Amino acid sequence: MHFGHFGAVDRFEPAKAFLREEGGPRSGGRSLRNIGIQLNFTVTRSPSVAYGASSPPEGAFARIACGTVEMFTKLWYNIVKKGGGFMAIPIPRYIRHIAKLQKQQKTWTHFGICCTCGCEKFLVYQNYMNKEEMLLEKPYYDALHEMFSGGLSTCTRDEDGTLHHWKLYEQYEPGKGFVRRREEVFLPDRPYFSGIVVIKSKCIKCEKEYLLFDSRMHGYDGMTNEKDQATIEYEPHFKLKCKEAVSLEVKVENDESLEKFQDNTDLGFTEEQFSDAFSWIIIYRINNNGKKAKIFDWETA
Ligand SMILES: [Zn+2]
Repeated sequence: MHFGHFGAVDRFEPAKAFLREEGGPRSGGRSLRNIGIQLNFTVTRSPSVAYGASSPPEGAFARIACGTVEMFTKLWYNIVKKGGGFMAIPIPRYIRHIAKLQKQQKTWTHFGICCTCGCEKFLVYQNYMNKEEMLLEKPYYDALHEMFSGGLSTCTRDEDGTLHHWKLYEQYEPGKGFVRRREEVFLPDRPYFSGIVVIKSKCIKCEKEYLLFDSRMHGYDGMTNEKDQATIEYEPHFKLKCKEAVSLEVKVENDESLEKFQDNTDLGFTEEQFSDAFSWIIIYRINNNGKKAKIFDWETA
């Protein structure tokens, strides 16, 4: 079976993908990885000729690998759409061009990160708030702290629709014992930049930068919450997250089906859009010694 009709493969000229005739897709009950095992690649012209280099550049093969992931995802959609019987979540759309599929199950997918130049080592950065921003954020968190200082809090809405926040606490009164009291706490607006989380990586070979996660755009809240212009336009400050260049693995989780999501949100997302609305993301780094560690863990909803 020839996969030439998949646009993703056509873009990677040196490679042509074939499925073995005897091992074509069965009708359901199979994992994507099984399909992957049945894929063969033939290089139709020498990468050294194609790229004018004296040795095959790593990138030639890495790009084939990245293309494969795109193709797998399309295959996934086709099978699921046709009622093939297995469900797994696809790699999020925004990161698919640099993803190398590793494992995929019903509610999560696990993939490595590979630059379009073929390099798999990155410097990783995370955003931070500068002193000025932290000062602006302080009144909000101080008020939150005050609200919970009695152990419990509640909020009410008056006739105008204005929200009031209350600190609940108990006070001892002679003759009465502990009496429940409430006290209003003014909660200022949370600054627009507060709570934004952005992780990016920079290839150590070609220095291309990739957005691995931006809470304003990716994940459940990022895809479903309305954002004001200031939030969208805010440019975060970044600092290095890992001291050395590392390889990266990403795991995204989504335990909601597209149908459920559409019922809950009324947003009318396509499957492609839904792939960015995952509920959890974990990023692992693998350092030069091969040690793997979690560097980012974020529930998006
Ligand atoms: Zn690169």
